[in-house]
This record gives sequence, C-alpha cells and structure tokens, in this order.
Amino acid sequence: MADTLFPTTVIGSLPRPAWVRELILDRKDGRLSEEEADRLLGRAIEGALLLQERAGLDEITDGEWRRESYVKVFAERVRGFEPDLNPSGGLPYPAVVAPVEYYRPIATDEVRFVRALTKRRIKATLPSPYIIGRRMWHPELSKAAYPTREQLMADCVPILRQEIEAVREAGADTVQLDEPWLSTMVDPQFRDKEQVTDVDYEMDLCVDLINQTLDGIEGIATGMHLCHAHFDRKHGSEGPYDLIMPALARVRVGTISMEYATPVSGGLASLAAFPEQVRLGLGCIDHCERQVETPEQVVARVEEAMRYVDKERITLHPDCGFSPSVQNPMDLDEAYLKLKAMCEAAKLLRTRYV
Ligand SMILES: [Zn+2]
Repeated sequence: MADTLFPTTVIGSLPRPAWVRELILDRKDGRLSEEEADRLLGRAIEGALLLQERAGLDEITDGEWRRESYVKVFAERVRGFEPDLNPSGGLPYPAVVAPVEYYRPIATDEVRFVRALTKRRIKATLPSPYIIGRRMWHPELSKAAYPTREQLMADCVPILRQEIEAVREAGADTVQLDEPWLSTMVDPQFRDKEQVTDVDYEMDLCVDLINQTLDGIEGIATGMHLCHAHFDRKHGSEGPYDLIMPALARVRVGTISMEYATPVSGGLASLAAFPEQVRLGLGCIDHCERQVETPEQVVARVEEAMRYVDKERITLHPDCGFSPSVQNPMDLDEAYLKLKAMCEAAKLLRTRYV
C-alpha cells in the first residue's frame, strides 16, 4: 500500500444495522447458536465488504460486524473473562477472573472470511494489551487471578503475538493495535476522572507493551490507532497531542493512526513533533459530525498535514471506527458517503501530487 500515494483505509468498525446488532446480542444471550449467528453475520458482512469496495477503499475490514466491541472481542475469544461484570467508563465490560488462555482465534476467522471475498488489502484489528488491562481488569473482581493490571497486560502480549502470526497466515496485510487510551492522557480532566496519578508511568507502560507485542513481527504491516474515544457522537477526552509525542517517538510500529479531523484534537500543529520514522495515519473524516465532508474539504485537511509530514508517509482514514461497539449505533449511509468522499479526495490528491 505504501507504493500508492495517499492510500485509504478504515480504522475498523462500520455502523452495524439494527438486525446485525440484534444478531450479536442474541448470540451473546444464547437465543441464537454460534453457527447460525456466524452464517447470518457472514451474509451481512458480504454487504459491508461491497460497501467499502464501492466507496473506493484500498484496505478494508469486515466492519467488525462479528464483534460486540473492538475490545470485548478479546474476552469473547480468550479464556479467563466473565462478561458484563465490570463497570468501566460507564458501560458494562467483562472482568478477568482467571488466568488468560488462548484457545481459539480472535480475529483470524474474520480475516479468513474476508480474504475469500476480496482482492483488496485487509486490515486485522486487535485491542492493545494496555487497553485490555485498563478496561477488563478490576481491583476486586480480578485480584485472585491478577493482583495487578500490569500482570494481566503482560499475559496478553504472547496471546496477541500468536494471533498476529495467525492473521498474517490467514491473509491479513496489516495488523492494527487499537490503543485509544494513550491519546486520552492529554486531557487533565480525563486523567482525574480515571484516577491517573502518574501519566509518565502510564505512557511508558503503554508503549513498552506495544513494542513487546510487535517486536520481531515480520511479513505484515503494523499499525497502532489512537483517538479521544467516542460514544454517541461525543468524545471522552479532548486536547492537542503534544504531551504524548515523545512517547510516540519510542513506539516501534509502521503506522500511527491519529484523530485529526475533529476540532477536539486542537488542530494539526502537534504534527510538528510527529516521529519521523513512522507513517502517519491521518484521521481526515470527522465520524462524530453528521455533515458529510466534501472531497475538497478532505484535500485541504491532508494538505495542511503535508506541512508537517512528507506526503509519502501519509495514509488517509476516518478519525476512528464508526461504531466501536453495538451499544453505539451510527448511520451506515452516512459512513458510506464519508468514506466515498475520502476516497475521492485521495484521487484528487494523486492527480495533484505525483
Ligand atoms: Zn478510535
């Protein structure tokens, strides 16, 4: 993909239609067998793939339409978790209650299904070890298995490494670790709310875990996604990224995908300190804003980013996945039109810059 200027991709999730959200929850509650849910979701995902191809994307996912959420998928597929025990950030999350154990693929089945249906590049998305520990470790519920969240995070690393090898063998071109937490660290109010007392420690822990997960991984492009976390078109945190740029310079990853279209990120000036050795995944579509961007608006955002980062290092994508969980419905038509505008912008940019 790096051979093409301004390649286009998605962060992961597409809005799930109501009937797809029902399928996922019916499967979870036992009203629908895994096999029947798999069959029906597969039929739905065929449409999600065509939507992305028609929009013009160079790299696609299955829309994460088999998942309840981008991070809960780890708990659904790895032993050691109990669902919905853990109130985290206002939503029920699983809690780890036993040592984690890899026993079936996390994203590999998703990739294999998509590989059989498209010739486009495929991105596999996995939650980072840090966000798993942040969202699914609880000081009381989890202490018998893991007295500290750091112990859980460390145990997630080999599981994720095994899964990355598996998605590569299944035909994924890129693996992206989703790490929303790191960019939320820039917001003092968010840090207070989440009782973060040592922000340098948290950033170092997060970066070290990403590096351990990706160390020595070859034969697949690697990425990391950061954002201000969103729900119901509102962001969980806000602020420019200056505080975390030194930490990002230590991440050994191919692409760092960041949310820059939304005004809550404080504009693009923080890109002045963006690390030189990695590609920039430029969030250039504001997925929380209903108004569909024109291709020209997207071109202007990319050209502003080019003041800080060489065009050869820029990939285009929306700020975040459109619907990270079934609890956050969004408009599928709106997502399609936004993706199409972004891909039109990429075409315009390629004619302007060769
Ligand atoms: Zn995100």
